[in-house]
Order: sequence, then structure tokens, then C-alpha cells
Amino acid sequence: MTQQHAVHIVGGGWAGLATAVQLCENGIPPLLIEASRQLGGTTRRIAFDGAPVEQSPVMLFAGYHHVMHLFRLLKIRENQHYIRIPFDIILRRKRRTKFRFRQHALPAPYGVISGLLLARGLSWSDKMAVLRLLRAVRGNSTRPEQDMPVNELLHQQKQGERAIRFFWRPLCRMFLHCDTQRASTLAFLDMLDWLFLSDQGNSDVLQLKTDIGGIFTDRAMDFIEQKGGAVKLGHQVTGLQVAGDRLLGLRTDDSELAADKVVLAAGAAGSAALLTDLVAMRDPLAAFAQLTFPALATVYVKYPRQTLLPSPLLHTMGTLGQWLVDKRLQGLPGTMAVHALEKPQQPLPQDDELLTMQIVTQLHVLFPHWRMPLTSQVARTPAALLAATVHYRQHQPAAATPITGLWLAGDFVRHGPLPSLESAVACGLACADAVANSVSDPTPP
Ligand SMILES: Cc1cc2nc3c(=O)[nH]c(=O)nc-3n(C[C@H](O)[C@H](O)[C@H](O)COP(=O)(O)OP(=O)(O)OC[C@H]3O[C@@H](n4cnc5c(N)ncnc54)[C@H](O)[C@@H]3O)c2cc1C
Repeated sequence: MTQQHAVHIVGGGWAGLATAVQLCENGIPPLLIEASRQLGGTTRRIAFDGAPVEQSPVMLFAGYHHVMHLFRLLKIRENQHYIRIPFDIILRRKRRTKFRFRQHALPAPYGVISGLLLARGLSWSDKMAVLRLLRAVRGNSTRPEQDMPVNELLHQQKQGERAIRFFWRPLCRMFLHCDTQRASTLAFLDMLDWLFLSDQGNSDVLQLKTDIGGIFTDRAMDFIEQKGGAVKLGHQVTGLQVAGDRLLGLRTDDSELAADKVVLAAGAAGSAALLTDLVAMRDPLAAFAQLTFPALATVYVKYPRQTLLPSPLLHTMGTLGQWLVDKRLQGLPGTMAVHALEKPQQPLPQDDELLTMQIVTQLHVLFPHWRMPLTSQVARTPAALLAATVHYRQHQPAAATPITGLWLAGDFVRHGPLPSLESAVACGLACADAVANSVSDPTPP
């Protein structure tokens, strides 16, 4: 067993790459081992009709401050790779737009107030109730001592049926990845505060102009290698060697490596598989097993190039696919990414053809003037997206583990706000700093 690098990272998704880039910045170039032949984790590139798209789509917000930090290090620049557009919910049912909310570019909380006052589809009393709830969130007077389902909060706060259906439910599904019946009120309040009530511009959507998932991974890999780190692709870590509560090494599919500092950034399922035999991890793992990962699929559908969505991002109601993204700005005119998240009592069809047929039929009802699709493809990422259900934070494992020299990084770890690329990156950066503090003599960057 040889040890050439002071730190090893398992997994090359956004959490592992953030850890590696920040460690390089801290003067400790690591070795990153990734099972797949590509970096990026759930956002890795796949080919759709000969063009690169992300396996799971990347929607970024201006309030992703840790992702922005990483983009600055990797010279991924605004205007060249993305533009900011105001947060916008357009809800369409059948052929009609039922609801439209557009955040205004004003300091918080005036952006959301004026957006709501001018929103289409809600009565005045609905709007006033929504604003009262936001005011209570701002004054911190709604925070329950015990977590509870968001539904309960909305009923306590006398939210109208349309406000729930048009505004609160899409927000829950988008940011907490579950319905109001199951979503955590504590996470919901944090989400509202972050999205609408903190810094001006947090809620701006970064409308991507390039294949950012691919560009991020290419730049990160170059950065790591230029700073003396290394990336090993296509090698699966098959075990961790631990004596008592100390880490000794890693086994990969073709070698054994001495390793006394490892950041495990292998996603929830990959990390659990490597921790399962470790006695010291029994309790964190038992809690972790309580977390919920709903099924989510992305269906890419290519229409003739003149086919346009009325806005780059559209929400739909009563359909299997709930968000539609027009990939025109990314150089793919006519290509739509449709996201389908399973609902209570409504699992997603397991059969790709059936899923695609249902999605395409529903798109035809929404946009009867669209011509027939030219081609389509389904991308599934099982157990990859954590739902922020009631009490989920109690079940999340901490980044620091009971094993000396072992840290966990990823969006499933208890760090940062909501499960997202931002929390994966924030956790990776924090792990890098924790590891750096435990290393005695980093080399200058
Ligand atoms: C369909 C979908 C859509 C999403 N959309 C958004 C969005 O729009 N905005 C947003 O902010 N977030 C979104 N997310 C969430 C976001 O993608 C995740 O939060 C993020 O990708 C998690 O990154 P990660 O690095 O923690 O894990 P992962 O991306 O899962 O990376 C883990 C990596 O570890 C590797 N690995 C696993 N086991 C081993 C092993 N034994 N040895 C070596 N390598 C191993 C895997 O191959 C993988 O590359 C979405 C998620 C999904 C599934």
C-alpha cells in the first residue's frame, strides 16, 4: 500500500469536486477517485440526439453563494455561461395559464410583495393571506418548536385553496422535493427566508447559455490537475479499511491505498454502501435510512426547432411532468426537458416508453399547436434527490464522523440549507477546510 496524496476523495459529483478544488486552494492537492468514466455525478453529461445534455438538469439560483465561489475560482463567468432572470412561476393547465407570479427586481421584501400584488390567478384575499404569512416569516413569529408538515402551517395561517395550489405547492415541490403534506415546515420557512426575504437577487434564476454541468467538471478537473492533484476515473472504491475508530486505507477494484484522510462524497446510496460494515457508523446509518429519496425522471423531447415555450421555465398542473425547461438558450432549439417527480399515490411509470408517451400526450394538451416530437429520451437517477420531509434534518448524518480521518460530503449531509447543488458544494467546501485544519503542513497554493 502506498500513499502519495495526503487526502483521498471518493466520488466526483459536485460535492467531491468542490472538496477537491478547495483542498487545492488550501495547498493540499488530493487524489479523487470516481467510479464512472465521467465526472459530475447526477449531473454528468449524456448524449441526446448527438448533443450533450445533463443526466439530471441543472437549475441554479443567484443565491447559490457557494456555487458562485466555486465558479469564480474556475473562471466560469456570468454573461458567457449564464444570465440572470427574475424568478417566475407560470402555472399552466390544459391550454390556459392559471397563475403567474414574477419576482420584481427590488430590495427584499419589496420584490416579492410587488410580484404578489401583480400576480395573476389569485384573489385579493389570497394575496393578502400570502403576504401575511411572509411577514410572519420575516418577523420569525411562525417558527414552530417542533417540525410539522407544511400543510398544517398553511391551514393555521389561513391560506386559501388557490394560494396553496398555485403558489405554496409548486414552491414545496421545487425546493423541498415533496408535497405540502410531507414537507418540513422548518425547511419551508428557511426556504422562504432565503428565496424572498434575504439578499436582493437570491431568487434570480441563472438561465444557462452553455452545458454548465460539463463545463464545470472540465474546468474542475483541469484546476485539480494543474495544482498537483489527481483524478482517477473508472475506479470504484469497494471498501474502507478501519481499525477501531481510525481510518487506515481504501480498497479500489484494482488496488489498495493507504489513506488516513478520506472525504466520502459518493452520494447517499454510494456512501451508505461503503459505511454499512463499519461498527462506528451504525447509529448514523440507522438514522440515515429514514431519509426519503423520491423517484424523479427527466424526459428530453425534441420538437422541430421553431417550437418554443412561452418562458424558459414553465410549471404545469395536474400532469405527470411538472416543470418544463426550454433548452433553446443552450443551443438546442426545440428541445424540452420535462421533469417528473413522483407524487403521493402516483408513482412514475417504470417503463420508459409509457412515461414518454404520457408526457408527450400531456404536452400536446398544453400546446395543441406543437407538431409531433422528432425524438425523445428518458434519464432516471434512482435515489439521488433527498426530500426535505418533516424531521429530515434529525436523520441527516453530520459531515464529521466518529471515525478519525473520515468525513462525509454531499447534499444528504446535515450542512447548509436545502438539498441541492448548493448544499452539496457548501458541504464539500466545509469538509475541505476541516481536512485542511487537520493537516499539519500544506504546501503553498
Ligand atoms: C433529476 C434531478 C434533478 C436535479 N435538479 C437540480 C437542480 O435543478 N438544482 C439543484 O440545485 N439541484 C438539483 N438536483 C440535486 C443535485 O443534482 C444534487 O444535489 C447533487 O448532484 C448531489 O451531488 P453529490 O456530489 O453530493 O452526489 P452525486 O452527484 O450523486 O455524486 C456522487 C458521485 O460518487 C460516485 N461514486 C459513488 N460510489 C462510488 C464508489 N464506491 N467509488 C467511487 N465513486 C463512487 C458516483 O459515481 C457519483 O459520480 C437534482 C437531482 C436530480 C436527481
